[in-house]
Amino acid sequence: MKKLFTLALFTIATCPACLAQTTKEYPKPEPMRPGMSEYWTPQPKVVEPGDIKLATAPSDAIVLFDGKDLSAWMNPNGSAAEWTVKNGVMTVDKSKGDIVTRQKFGSFQLHLEWCVPKGITGESQARGNSGVFLQDMYEVQILDCFGNETYVNGMTGSIYKQTPPLVNVMRKPGEWNVYDIIYTAPVFKEDGTYLYKPFVTVIQNGVVLQNHTEIQGTTEYIGFPRTVKHGEGPIRLQSHGDPSQPISFRNIWIRPL
Ligand code: MG
Repeated sequence: MKKLFTLALFTIATCPACLAQTTKEYPKPEPMRPGMSEYWTPQPKVVEPGDIKLATAPSDAIVLFDGKDLSAWMNPNGSAAEWTVKNGVMTVDKSKGDIVTRQKFGSFQLHLEWCVPKGITGESQARGNSGVFLQDMYEVQILDCFGNETYVNGMTGSIYKQTPPLVNVMRKPGEWNVYDIIYTAPVFKEDGTYLYKPFVTVIQNGVVLQNHTEIQGTTEYIGFPRTVKHGEGPIRLQSHGDPSQPISFRNIWIRPL
């Protein structure tokens, strides 16, 4: 037995291949940069939206903003939301940060209307950037994409850094855009991986941008989607740090499914 052990040690010590295996250095993955998960072509076709009248909340909806106050919303730390409310409209206050609904949701139908201010400046992602995070995890992008190109998987109606919208149906700054979002929450296995990934359909101004799109994981600014096990979550509206003029929201309601 002792002989065998000595022989094994001798073999490892004198085998060049074995030594190479333990000492060889392989290149490490390059550190992720934002541009590594952005692509710019093909740009979705521009579509002129039809005229759709104001979609007031149906009788079974939970009203999240009716133009009066932010009582359905709070800061992520639980304190009262402080965005500006005026003339039936709420406007992002970039000094206050994101806001989330007080209530948490699973699968839902969400309606919200948003407006990029007339005369907005900036370009690409720094022009009217906001976003709606489904269950506080997955961002459907909001951006002024009227004559403003950016990476296509970061356009309005994209699943951010994942799936571009089918078309570009933006109304011009100063006019109201309408989102209707139908979302199916994911189901997780015990080990924290997806049994079923989340799915989303996004309609802007009556036109389908995402058709039952599978969401790959969290919507990261840097890097690839991650799998993070979660339960019900709030709707989050983004206060983006870009220097352009803040956007506004009105008429927000949700129907849990
Ligand atoms: Mg955004």
